[in-house]
Amino acid sequence: MDDCIFCKIGRGEIPAKTVYGDDGVIGIVDINPQAPEHIVVMPRKHYKNVAELAADEAALGHLMAAATRIGEERGADGFRLVVNTGPMGGQTVDHVHVHVLSGRPMTWPPG
Ligand code: AMP
Ligand code: ZN
Repeated sequence: MDDCIFCKIGRGEIPAKTVYGDDGVIGIVDINPQAPEHIVVMPRKHYKNVAELAADEAALGHLMAAATRIGEERGADGFRLVVNTGPMGGQTVDHVHVHVLSGRPMTWPPG
């Protein structure tokens, strides 16, 4: 996707503070953090949302495993994984990503 901001970050065309990277996914510091630690983890390949990614269960599993490891590393006392999906789900970037939030107590229900 030529005009997708997360594809551009994955290709290194837009700078980002990368905290994790492997062949399949990268993790970057969120530009508008909602917690003391807020990492966004995404596949390098473009999938518009988690529903599209779920067609490739290996890719879905790889993304969730990477996000979980980042959460364990950065949130010793707990963390939260969030996958906003679609307009009603609060998704603003149409390239699937997992938010990894930690460093403060999380409230429930989310807004
Ligand atoms: P969502 O609203 O769930 O689609 O999440 C998109 C997230 O991407 C938001 O938390 C934004 O702050 C974050 N974001 C957008 N552009 C960038 C960027 N260039 N670098 C880092 N994070 C970004
Ligand atoms: Zn993309």
